[in-house]
Amino acid sequence: MRNCEVLIVGGGPAGSTAAWQLRRAGVDVLLLDRERFPRLKLCAGWITPEVVRELAMDLASYPHRLLTFPRLRMHSGRWQLPVPCVQYSIRRFEFDAWLLERSGAEVVQHNVRHIEREGDGYIVDGEFRCRYLIGAGGTRCPVYRELFRELNPRESGLQIVTLEHEIAYDWSDADCHLWFFEQGLPGYSWYVPKERGWLNVGVGAIAARLKARGQDIRSHWAHLIGTLERRLAPGAQFDPTGYSYYLRGKVEVVRRENAFITGDAAGLASRDLGEGIGPAIRSGLRAARAIVANEPYHLDDVTGLSISSIARSMFGRLAPAASGAGQRARAATGGNEHGLRHGDQ
Ligand SMILES: Cc1cc2nc3c(=O)[nH]c(=O)nc-3n(C[C@H](O)[C@H](O)[C@H](O)COP(=O)(O)OP(=O)(O)OC[C@H]3O[C@@H](n4cnc5c(N)ncnc54)[C@H](O)[C@@H]3O)c2cc1C
Repeated sequence: MRNCEVLIVGGGPAGSTAAWQLRRAGVDVLLLDRERFPRLKLCAGWITPEVVRELAMDLASYPHRLLTFPRLRMHSGRWQLPVPCVQYSIRRFEFDAWLLERSGAEVVQHNVRHIEREGDGYIVDGEFRCRYLIGAGGTRCPVYRELFRELNPRESGLQIVTLEHEIAYDWSDADCHLWFFEQGLPGYSWYVPKERGWLNVGVGAIAARLKARGQDIRSHWAHLIGTLERRLAPGAQFDPTGYSYYLRGKVEVVRRENAFITGDAAGLASRDLGEGIGPAIRSGLRAARAIVANEPYHLDDVTGLSISSIARSMFGRLAPAASGAGQRARAATGGNEHGLRHGDQ
């Protein structure tokens, strides 16, 4: 039996952030993930200045792909609005592995199946014993399933279905494009370029509303690919994969004795744009503080409207994080006003 003070299930942004904070406080942490990192995570990889700040990221020394968007291009029908702001893209394949390594926690590849209570702690799969347990296993988190599901049933009206693909592609438009309500889509589709020739495209929608319209996510995907072929990504070959997660619901019980749920396990993504990385990070930070400093664990305010974050960055209130990225991008490109693309390699 392997003993530890805190066992974290899942090494995505929620789990790695909790691990990072706990290790900084000298806590004995073990993190289990069923995948070996770096691993594929379906996600557009758009991050906000708040995420950069909360993770204390020094953008100039981040060792992987990071692109700064000086604007987002929002489309709806024939209408197009360039929204000046500062937002970023990363590749989750790189970002998650980097966060996990930076956390300094010991990571064991293990697919968690079963959790039992023992005294004031937990036994996982008869192999791991801990006093505190953090569920950061995403939508299908076993900690949610075994300890929280009955108390916090998920609301089917908040389930998002997505189709997405990230490919190596030498894009020429460095802006992030978002299309809303195309062909009645109850959601949006995206084109998110990544630094040095990678591109993520996808479509996401509320499953129940899509069904009520008698529509299928694949027909919306086909529509998006048609648009990309004509304008932004001619010749690109996509083969999408689907994934589902939940937007922020009531989530009343987030701590039970010494067990916590965080991130997608708790269903925290923003209601407007389905942004889940920020809420995952904030919940991971709070779970760590609840353990280290005995602070109450609540997640009432970890999810805001993403559009407010974009508006804040529009008005330059988050200038310090933005200028760091700008400096780094300028250094790499010699100053490119058409998006901030770094050097090729
Ligand atoms: C197509 C798509 C696009 C998205 N785009 C964005 C975006 O651009 N920006 C944004 O902010 N959010 C986006 N999101 C949401 C975002 O990806 C999630 O909200 C975020 O990843 C949640 O982080 P997490 O740490 O809670 O879970 P995850 O990142 O899902 O990590 C969970 C980890 O737990 C592990 N795990 C699962 N089960 C087990 C088990 N039984 N045993 C051990 N380990 C286990 C998994 O392997 C995984 O590594 C998107 C989501 C999708 C599906």
